[in-house]
Order: sequence, then C-alpha cells, then structure tokens
Amino acid sequence: MKLLVKNVLPINGDGKTLCDVAVTNGIITAIGRAPEGFAPDDTVEGGGRLCMPALVNAHTHMYMSVLRGAADDLPFMQWLFEGVMPREDKMDVGQAYWGSLLSCVEMIRRGCCTFNDMHLFPGAAARAAQDIGMRAVVNRAVTGPDGGERRINEMLGEINEFKGCRNVYFMIAPHAIYTCSQEYLTKLADIAEELALPVHIHLSESVAEMNDCLRDHGCTPVEYLVKMGFFKNKTLAAHCVQLTETDILLLAEHGVSVAANPKSNLKLGNGIAPVYQLDKAGVNVCIGTDSAASNNSLNMFSEMNYTALLHKGTNGDPTVIPARKAFEMATVNGAKALCIDKLGRLEPGWKADLVLLDTDVPQMMPLRDLYAAVVYSCDGSETDTVIIDGRPVYLHKEFTTIDTEELYYNIRKIAEVI
Ligand SMILES: [Zn+2]
Repeated sequence: MKLLVKNVLPINGDGKTLCDVAVTNGIITAIGRAPEGFAPDDTVEGGGRLCMPALVNAHTHMYMSVLRGAADDLPFMQWLFEGVMPREDKMDVGQAYWGSLLSCVEMIRRGCCTFNDMHLFPGAAARAAQDIGMRAVVNRAVTGPDGGERRINEMLGEINEFKGCRNVYFMIAPHAIYTCSQEYLTKLADIAEELALPVHIHLSESVAEMNDCLRDHGCTPVEYLVKMGFFKNKTLAAHCVQLTETDILLLAEHGVSVAANPKSNLKLGNGIAPVYQLDKAGVNVCIGTDSAASNNSLNMFSEMNYTALLHKGTNGDPTVIPARKAFEMATVNGAKALCIDKLGRLEPGWKADLVLLDTDVPQMMPLRDLYAAVVYSCDGSETDTVIIDGRPVYLHKEFTTIDTEELYYNIRKIAEVI
C-alpha cells in the first residue's frame, strides 16, 4: 500500500518549502520529492498544511470517558473510591467498548494516534483501536493479592487473544504500590521479564501515597520499588508528582520513563511533577492525559502546552522546556517509553503516523517557528487529517473508518444508566 501526501510544510523543514511525503506499507520512504517511479494507491492533498508526527498519549484510561463529568472537584481518594469505582463496578465490556471508541475519536481529532491504556477492559480498548485504525498499547491494571491470581489469568488470556494484531502492543500493569502487595508486585515483575514485556505503574501520584509508604515501609515509593528489584524491566511510571531529589536520581539510574499528566494532577490537586528536573537528570519524560474522568479531556495539544508553561512558571525561568522539548515529550519520548520502535519523528524509515494542521487560521498567522506554533498557539482544532500506519483514518475532518453518529447515540444511552 503506497500513499502520497502532497504539498505539506514538514514541521522539521524550513517553514517555507512545500514537500511531498511518500509512504510505503506504513513507513515514510521519502520527504521532499517522491522517489522515481513511485505509484501511489492513494493520494492526500495537503494544501500547504503543516505536517507533523502524531502525538503519543503515554498514560490514559480509555473507557473512563463515559465517566466524564461524573465526579468533579473532589479530593483525590474521594474521587477514586466514591466517584469512580462504584460506577466502574456497574460497567460491562460493551459499555467499555463505546467509552474506548469515544476516547479514540477525541484523541484522533486532536492529532494523537497512539494511546497507552491501563485499566479493567483492555480487550474493549484493543477492539476500539482496531475498528478505528489507531495504534494501541493496552494493559490490564491488576491489583492483589485479593483476586490477584484471577486477574493475572485474565490478563494473560487477553494478551493471547490480541497477540499478533497489527498495532496492538502490551504492557504489564500493577495498578500502584497501594493496591498491590510487595509479593504481588514482585510476581508481576517476574511475569513481565518472562514475557519480555515492559511495565506500567502509577507511582508517587499523591501526598497520601508518599506518606503511607514512608509510614509502612520507611522509604519513598520509588525507593520501595528499587529495593525489591522491580525496575529490572523497562518501566513507565505514571505521574511521579511527589519525588525527592534521590528519587529523581534513582529513576534516571534505573532507566525508568516518566509519564507526566499535568492537567489531571492539577485538577485532582495532586501537584506538579518536577518535569524539568527529571529531564535534566536524564529521565525519558513523556506526556499523558490520564482519564477523561479526571482531566476532563484527552487533548494532547493542551497537555503539551501545560508542560511547556507550567515548568517555566514553577522554575521562574522562561528558557526551561522550550517548545521543541515539549513536542518531543509528546511524540518520540512517548514512543520510546512504550517501546515502539521508530515512531514520533518525521523522517524516512520512521512509522507514518502523520497529522496535517490547518495553517489558514488566525492563531497560526504569521507562521514563524513551527514548534512554537504547535505548542503555544494550537489547541488541536487545527487538525485536518490524520494518517495512522500509512492509512488516512481522519480525512479533512471526517472519519473514514467509523460512524460517529452511532457512537454518540450509544454514549448518551450509557450515560443514562451509569
Ligand atoms: Zn492513571
């Protein structure tokens, strides 16, 4: 399958020269001019739009979009244990499918082509991603020891079911240190090692988690995991808001990636992750939205913008986290954290997950630094076309693979019962 994207401004170009992007079987083969004799099966007219690699949402909970607006302005533990969990208990896999598809639609319309979903219905998320044509990393959030064996068996069943599906990837995901015993965490790290899969965990998200860990284990959550040898696998830690200076050095030393979730952490009053300090220490920092139940949107443009601005403000220094750095955190760093090879750059040989942004809008005029335009001026509504794995999934603001009317009908129905 060959695709030619014509007349676009590459984000890593000079900002003036229009280029064509040639794609063969989901891989970018040329930028500039198509190779001699390149006969595309399909052509997308770029019309002078800005072309960038698609955004990567490194931490989310897909089906929870049906809980959007159900529990706002509550303290974190009350939000989780009273607002979210009782509603989740009522949900079935069919409802989770529609919730996951809603998340896919929201993300694609805002230039994001890959998500990392952790939670109860990974099969629903994988199916939704397959139906719409999105790249999905799915992981069942497991807790234990109570019911832990059953959850591990279900998790292994799901991995077997979707193994071999194109663009579906897996991680092993103990939910958090406060919902898993030490023995259970060790067991999951061993399973990940055996299956050669990366690990995803919520870590140091709140003051309560930090204080409880200091009380129960005499050390910080990061130190607790280091002591048990948990970081022997490639690990992505979500949140990492409450960190000591030693924690930052330990995360760097053990090659742990961190998914910052600026808006969710702010909305739940959990604070601000020390992204600048993590990046400076050599930690691979990427960005997630967390769920629409805590955010309440899945807009990676907005998260990129917050990432760039928050740390200038908190560090009192406008030079930290420049636009280009925030953009890399939202693209190639995310792919690296998810162990997806050659994703997140607009270069020959890299995966063809491409986003075309309108430039005929006031916030993009005049167009100077393209990274600054994307990070500081865009809100994501500029997204005109999204190509995933070399396939136009969203073309001139219309989905080509699914019926959004049917989706919205089902979401309204679900909201009546949950
Ligand atoms: Zn989360």
